[in-house]
Amino acid sequence: MTLEEKRAYERLRYKRRKESSLCQRCNNPVVPGRAYCEKHLIYQKKSVQKRRDKRKKNGLCVECDMPVSGGIRCAKHALSDNNWHKKCRKKRLNAVVDFKIPPEFKEPNEDEIIFSKGYIA
Ligand SMILES: [Zn+2]
Ligand SMILES: [Zn+2]
Repeated sequence: MTLEEKRAYERLRYKRRKESSLCQRCNNPVVPGRAYCEKHLIYQKKSVQKRRDKRKKNGLCVECDMPVSGGIRCAKHALSDNNWHKKCRKKRLNAVVDFKIPPEFKEPNEDEIIFSKGYIA
């Protein structure tokens, strides 16, 4: 690798690192260890809670849209709580759900809450 290539590589690496510390929804810096800034973490959390509430109310599994009779999870997700689910999706979901909303933060408007498709069910 030439010096010039090395410099270009370093620049790219720096850029990537810098980019990854910006919120996925806006250009604000992220809360350390999370993928979003504080505002968007809160919106994301609200969105997850809202979706779960809606599913519960409609008798659907909180993890997917399967109708359930009794309980809040379908057979697959009740089981998967012990395996794959814990490993991958849960980790990401918890990164949002565990976030504590600061008491001074005002409630977001309905239409400000993000309903991200595919990222968190
Ligand atoms: Zn943001
Ligand atoms: Zn399910």
